[in-house]
Amino acid sequence: MKNRIYIKDLKESVGKEVVIAGWVDVRRDQGKMVFFDMRDMTGKVQCVTLPVHPEAIIMAKEIRPEWVLEIKGLVKERNDKNAVQGGGVEIEVLNIEVLNKAETLPFDITTDTSEINEETRLSYRYLDLRSDRMQKNIRMRSEFVKRVREFLFSKMFTEIETPLLTESTPEGSRDFVVPSRLNPGKFYALPQSPQQYKQLLMVGGMEKYFQIARALRDEDLRADRGFEHTQVDVEMSFVEMEDVMNLIEEMMTTVVESMGFVIKQKPFPRITYKESMEKYGADKFDMRTEEEKKDKKILAYAWVVNFPFFEKTDEGKWTFTHNPFSMPIPEHIEFLMKGENIENILTTQYDLVCNGYESGGGSIRAHKPEILEATYKVMGYTKEEIEDRIGHMLEAFKYGVPSHGGIALGVERNLMNLTGETYLREVVSFPMTRGGKTAVMNAPKPLEEKQLKELGIKIGK
Ligand code: ASP
Repeated sequence: MKNRIYIKDLKESVGKEVVIAGWVDVRRDQGKMVFFDMRDMTGKVQCVTLPVHPEAIIMAKEIRPEWVLEIKGLVKERNDKNAVQGGGVEIEVLNIEVLNKAETLPFDITTDTSEINEETRLSYRYLDLRSDRMQKNIRMRSEFVKRVREFLFSKMFTEIETPLLTESTPEGSRDFVVPSRLNPGKFYALPQSPQQYKQLLMVGGMEKYFQIARALRDEDLRADRGFEHTQVDVEMSFVEMEDVMNLIEEMMTTVVESMGFVIKQKPFPRITYKESMEKYGADKFDMRTEEEKKDKKILAYAWVVNFPFFEKTDEGKWTFTHNPFSMPIPEHIEFLMKGENIENILTTQYDLVCNGYESGGGSIRAHKPEILEATYKVMGYTKEEIEDRIGHMLEAFKYGVPSHGGIALGVERNLMNLTGETYLREVVSFPMTRGGKTAVMNAPKPLEEKQLKELGIKIGK
């Protein structure tokens, strides 16, 4: 659009004729004069139509909320306290061009839309996104990711993408699977995390990797958990626990402080899993006082370390608590190798907790094939099963592997802390409903007969 300027910049154009474009927010018809607020991605401004511009008045009487307009007008100073956002200016309308009309919206977007029925809100998510709160949340998410990227680039990290169509990984959840047309009866799995690829990147000499990665897990949905989430996924070579924890601590501090947040305690307190269970009865906790909880700008980070490596399954077998690719703490490698004292083996896992949520977690990895193999033996895998599951990792680890470790930080969980939201859907552009239905679009849905045939799939009754 020619010469369009943003509403936030109007104050620099006082006395000038400008063009703005956006949505009609609210309209007040006072007979001789019509007032309406215009909204673009940068703010709102009041527009006034005066009797001296009769054509503009006629048009202004016709327009309705959420119509999309291009307005030519004169920027005027306005210092009274009724002036809407837009920095003490208003626009005297000279001409209104209607770019698009709007029907009455299914719900009011000028209020906090969290009260609106979820199904309705998500069917019309694109309207919901126009509300102040959603605009703020989604933009804050972008700001957070941008600052994380900038920090990691400043520390010599390389951003690398890893495949979405991949092999099922033993990450502890159910996989989403994708049928292969070229290989009927065979399936890809969508990644629960880029865990193995990022380790293979370390084998590949990349040394410092990160990715804003999508992770997919077919788990029951909860307020703070969706089928897909985004993580800041990091892996580094030649590091010990302290190196990763210190880097991530510096990253979070740099990022959130630059966004105006206050960290309750620096350096982040470190607490063992055992102490955490004794003190809080859980491995995630909120260290803020009741007073501090009311202030949305306070972030109470803590590290939890010394987690048990294994726990018993319902069937009485050993399974990993966090990550099968982890290294035990150095003093316990011996136990693992001998398959002794399993219940007491501690892992190099570190979890970052913030305001009651787990905001990230990672570990130092077993980079020697015999250590990784020993973990799978403890979990009761036979030689053949180990080969089938992680044979490619054991093979890769034969060819000169740096020690390495990493972490993944949940973007949504972190944004929930920054925005003060208690539901994941408030920080995701197009979240699913509680029943696992996509926003706006109609998935999941049946495939056509032809597609099923192509994939060699028969649906059971
Ligand atoms: N892969 C782990 C996860 O997604 C994180 C990590 O250990 O780096 O939870």
